[in-house]
Amino acid sequence: MDKVVSLCKRRGFIFQSSDIYGGLANTWDYGPYGVELKNNVKRSWWKSVVYERNDIFGMDAAILMHPKVWEASGHLKGFTDLLVDCKKCRKRFRADQVADKCPECGGGFTEARAFNLMLKTFLGPVEDVNSISYLRPETAQGIFVNFSNILDSKHPKLPFGLAQIGKSFRNEITPGNFTFRTREFEQMEVEYFVHPNDAEKSLEEWIDYRFNWYLALGLNKNNLRKRPHGKDELAHYALACTDIEYNFPFGWSELEGIANRTDFDLKQHERVSGKELRYLDEATKEKVLPYIIEPSGGVDRSILAFLADAYIEEKVKDDIRVVLKLHKDLAPTKVAVLPLLRNRPEIVELAKSIAADLKKSIITVYDDTGAIGKLYRRQDEVGTLLCVTVDVQSLEDKQVTVRERDSMQQERISIDRLKEYLQGRF
Ligand code: ATP
Repeated sequence: MDKVVSLCKRRGFIFQSSDIYGGLANTWDYGPYGVELKNNVKRSWWKSVVYERNDIFGMDAAILMHPKVWEASGHLKGFTDLLVDCKKCRKRFRADQVADKCPECGGGFTEARAFNLMLKTFLGPVEDVNSISYLRPETAQGIFVNFSNILDSKHPKLPFGLAQIGKSFRNEITPGNFTFRTREFEQMEVEYFVHPNDAEKSLEEWIDYRFNWYLALGLNKNNLRKRPHGKDELAHYALACTDIEYNFPFGWSELEGIANRTDFDLKQHERVSGKELRYLDEATKEKVLPYIIEPSGGVDRSILAFLADAYIEEKVKDDIRVVLKLHKDLAPTKVAVLPLLRNRPEIVELAKSIAADLKKSIITVYDDTGAIGKLYRRQDEVGTLLCVTVDVQSLEDKQVTVRERDSMQQERISIDRLKEYLQGRF
């Protein structure tokens, strides 16, 4: 894990937030490569759950919501973790994560008490009970409260779903393990509305659909498993839930939860808002309160899993090569164009013009800030799929060398068919 964290900082994937002020604990900023990787993860998810299907629409709700939402959803009352304080060193822990003695100093604990995880803020200039608002702890509620807007504007037939990616906030008691558990994070959620009779089957389908997404993006199947929840660990709204877990360097932990939320949310919002939230089945004239199947994954957690899985150290001759074997759809940069000799203007000029041309259709970088061995190593560490090297011979035979990241195999390709060749590789 330390190696992944160090690579993230060294190469510009992820930095500690507010670094120059000593850092804000457990808060992270995505740098130039990190933001590309993040966008690629989100794009792949959106493609899989929206574009490749006929039954799901996208949306993007506000982070701030009416306070009544959190009353209806049960978060005001029920979104709590049990917390214990060490009587000796005063450190706080989640009761379910410790035994009966403080792991730091061996002290005894206070009685467990409920701690609400929602982050509170005030809207407007007056800080009183009437202006209290919460930063959403899950993106899901923004979808539920738009259920009737979607029925009225899109007229979908059951089953159908809504997909959303966005920031969520939880005042976690024990954040940590790099980006695994933070107080500000991004979720990718689908809320899939089904007839109650179809909920069980749909849950199973979604578990497989989501599991296969991680596999298709290259996660090692030995590091991935499904774990059904026991009755005692289900969230207050769920009838059944299965987690997709990844074997992180710190152990098996949740990547995504796929839950049968029943009609709990729509029923609650109907009751508290006084608005009917039913689906009218035109054929049977039956009014249905749909059940909701929810695959809810974390953008940051999947990125951490993709990075941990892709990080490889290989022995090459007498050297160790660090390479990020990210899936082609996730690699932040697809192609790097490198001049073999940076003190030969004709080579530099040709390399720059090739890069400029490729940039129009492929995510390409140009780099001439080191010797070729160093440039290759740098691109390997950030997962660049192909390196194009321009050398002296290129000036004569109008060919370049294309080097593949994983095999390091090299091929001579003529410049006039380079773009077509590279595009065929992605
Ligand atoms: P955990 O048991 O790890 O606290 P959870 O079961 O509370 O997670 P859910 O409410 O199911 O999590 O949230 C769905 C997804 O959102 C999780 O699978 C995870 O990927 C992501 N997520 C939840 N909390 C955090 C967090 N504090 N930091 C980063 N990602 C998170």
